[in-house]
Amino acid sequence: MIRYFSRIYRVSKALLQGMGVTFCWLFKPAITVQYPDEKLTPAERFRGALTFDKETCTACLLCVKACPTACITLEPATDSVTKKRLAKVSWYQIDFGKCNYCRLCEEACPTKPIKSVRHTHDYEWGMKQRSDMFVKWRREQKKEETQLEKTA
Ligand code: SF4
Ligand code: SF4
Repeated sequence: MIRYFSRIYRVSKALLQGMGVTFCWLFKPAITVQYPDEKLTPAERFRGALTFDKETCTACLLCVKACPTACITLEPATDSVTKKRLAKVSWYQIDFGKCNYCRLCEEACPTKPIKSVRHTHDYEWGMKQRSDMFVKWRREQKKEETQLEKTA
């Protein structure tokens, strides 16, 4: 009998404590963001989707070496005549299925003033298939680059 009433007491006490917390929050302003109608501004160093600038990249491979998940692959551009490697990229690919958004690639990238590979504030993107997670940037090789190599 004593156990029965002590149980009722404990349950009632827990219920009232819970209701007390709810009651306290009743008069505080709501902080729920009505996404997607309302959006918060991400912090300055927020690590969103990566973007790549194919024109400034020097194909130095530092980002490839820094990446802990080996999700970056690239091919340096080569002179079509001499077959020498150029300080430009032919294509650059990130496998976002393996990327952990650690920023190590961006920190390793030496290009200034803006890093060729860098995080954006974009968090609103999704992929429906595994193949969509491979994002590739291609760069068209310019004729002058071949000419420069020839005269060098
Ligand atoms: S953010 Fe990290 S895991 Fe993703 S590509 Fe860069 S180094 Fe690799
Ligand atoms: S993105 Fe930056 S670190 Fe990576 S190859 Fe290009 S210049 Fe080098």
